[in-house]
Amino acid sequence: MRQIAIYGKGGIGKSTTTQNLTASLSTMGNKIMLVGCDPKADSTRMLLGGLNQKTVLDTLRSEGDEGVDLDVVMQRGFGDIKCVESGGPEPGVGCAGRGIITSIGLLENLGAYTDDLDYVFYDVLGDVVCGGFAMPIREGKAKEIYIVASGELMAIYAANNICKGLAKFAKGGARLGGIICNSRNVDGERELLDAFAKKLGSHLIHFIPRDNIVQRAEINRKTVIDFDPESNQAKEYLTLAHNVQNNDKLVVPTPLPMEELEAMMVEFGIVDL
Ligand code: ATP
Ligand code: MG
Repeated sequence: MRQIAIYGKGGIGKSTTTQNLTASLSTMGNKIMLVGCDPKADSTRMLLGGLNQKTVLDTLRSEGDEGVDLDVVMQRGFGDIKCVESGGPEPGVGCAGRGIITSIGLLENLGAYTDDLDYVFYDVLGDVVCGGFAMPIREGKAKEIYIVASGELMAIYAANNICKGLAKFAKGGARLGGIICNSRNVDGERELLDAFAKKLGSHLIHFIPRDNIVQRAEINRKTVIDFDPESNQAKEYLTLAHNVQNNDKLVVPTPLPMEELEAMMVEFGIVDL
């Protein structure tokens, strides 16, 4: 069972990419569980056709420790993917990070991690690799990390910071599997991300183009794989899935000092000083 966590700057496309990636992997015959670790609880929406999933933490609050049933918090989505949303603490009360720890512990106790699973994916909120949000990697649950980034400075900056966090948790076995470029149509983006990934000691696992079919599929509450499996964008997600499936390059990343990061942005003409 490969346990994979997806990180990246807020809004970069983690949930979209993760759902299209898991949908692709399912069409390749894999058994998958996807655990959304974001209080927004939108990590599994397109796999479930928009179904409003009962979150683990909501159920825990309403039913109590003994009342949480796996059938209630885990729904089967596209490709028979087991979909779970951790959910969040009551707004203004409690810590979302702790909630993730509680949720994963509960899923383990309920026997969600069955031996037949090929993959467990964690779609983790934002770019915070501290405290509870780092839980899937800190506790050695997810040993394989992919970071979604683009050619925008802040996306690369966030990716670099995530690598700093990851390097700290390397003792627990966490490794970077690669950078996924989710394109923002920035000039020279592929070359920049390729160079950035290499400087980290990793590689660009795939370049996903920006395409409005993603929005059309989203409005229809579907992944692109489900909405239009023959489309070019679906093929890109399938290539990503093949690259992940065959990936054996797992490294402890070497994050860049800020000056080197900025120098790289200038070198690739992204930032004009
Ligand atoms: P958050 O940090 O808030 O959880 P996220 O990283 O999960 O955000 P998404 O919700 O997946 O980001 O994506 C944000 C928006 O970008 C979505 O509305 C989605 O439609 C769009 N998007 C993502 N990838 C692409 C793409 N390759 N082409 C076009 N649009 C995209
Ligand atoms: Mg998201």
